Amino acid sequence: MQSIRNSCLALVKHRDQFLHPIVWINPTRIMASTSAKGQRLVSSPPKSLMKPLDVPNKLLMGPGPSNCPPRVLAAGALPMLGHLHPEFTKIMDEVKEGIQYAFQTKNEWTFAISGTGHAAMEASVANLLEPGDVALICQNGIWGQRLADMVERNGSVAQKIICAYGEVFTLDTIEKGLKEHKPSLVFVTFGESSAGTAQPLEGLGDLCHKYNALLLVDSVAILGGRPLFMDAWNIDVLYSGSQKVLGAPPATSPISFSQRARDKIASRKTKIRSYYFDANELANYWGCDKGPRRYHHTGMVTSVYALREGLARLAEEGLEKSWADHKACSELLYTGLEKLGLELLVKEPELRNPCVTTIKVPEGVNWKDVTDYAMKNYRVEIAGGLGDLAGKVWRIGIMGYNCRPENVNLVLKVLGEALESLRK
Ligand SMILES: *Cc1c(COP(=O)(O)O)cnc(C)c1O
Repeated sequence: MQSIRNSCLALVKHRDQFLHPIVWINPTRIMASTSAKGQRLVSSPPKSLMKPLDVPNKLLMGPGPSNCPPRVLAAGALPMLGHLHPEFTKIMDEVKEGIQYAFQTKNEWTFAISGTGHAAMEASVANLLEPGDVALICQNGIWGQRLADMVERNGSVAQKIICAYGEVFTLDTIEKGLKEHKPSLVFVTFGESSAGTAQPLEGLGDLCHKYNALLLVDSVAILGGRPLFMDAWNIDVLYSGSQKVLGAPPATSPISFSQRARDKIASRKTKIRSYYFDANELANYWGCDKGPRRYHHTGMVTSVYALREGLARLAEEGLEKSWADHKACSELLYTGLEKLGLELLVKEPELRNPCVTTIKVPEGVNWKDVTDYAMKNYRVEIAGGLGDLAGKVWRIGIMGYNCRPENVNLVLKVLGEALESLRK
């Protein structure tokens, strides 16, 4: 009862935030939650929620999420607007322009999915593939594996070409796959975050189109960190995420569809299996068609503000500078790691994802002792391996707001100390 009274008082205290008069909740009404025999019908409120929210400050140098710049966090705390209010749809338009810039595309169908990177993956599969359609999945880490899983759940067929974590696909290998499986869609991961590779993309779009297939590219863990040209490289569908280089909270996922991809969607014989991810509906809500915007789902209002600020930061800084900074910081990291006697998984520097570096765990070292040391003593996150590389590598992220030499130097210092302490 005391707590109810307290919340009422809190409401009164903050009433200047509200446009409506405060309604005092009559405590006797709430008493009705006790039955005639005096038994409580309502369980007691959780004690954990009676304590203040506890969020420590950590330096997130794993493969994401990365730390958000203050302006992004501040944007997320701004007042709520209606999801169709003109002030909000204007912000949506700004986000759309920001994504077009980040992707280097003029595609009209460019917007942000409500959901994290996985939601953009599901959306791509649901829109581009009908049951029975074949997708060629280039799998060199967990992302190909996951996308193939989604393809099968969609009733479509996943044909895979697989190479080891740390390696990338050549145009020849992909062409063989195209000839053999005759897919309508090819999937590659530009920035592999489980393996640490950057897949070369030049020429791939044209190759796919020669065989009547669309090209779908995952750029979640690399967008903003390395040159990427959606239109010039003829990519049909490109998606990313908010919480990596863009430095916004995990919630929204940029995505864009080429005219070819839209034609494929328009010529579907079957309904898109997902209502939530139907690109026709989303494009309308994001003002990408002529029609008035309709309510499809409630947009992620405050998360869209945050994404807007993440994109604004990238726009103010400029893509070239962002690419150059990620290159410089990753090179600083490589040099430092070599000095520590550590070996990178991806041998060829050109094929490394500057945003996620995979480092082999030396013989006799338990990877977790090192990540625990970093967290316990410095509140620095270094990640372990995923999939085939679980227990075998560490992964260090250099993303957006965290992409600064002092952060790289701190990670190197922490790693060196941790290894030293384990040798003792
Ligand atoms: C992080 C990531 C995703 C998506 O992850 P969410 O956790 O759903 O945001 C997809 N692809 C790659 C390459 C990633 O690194």
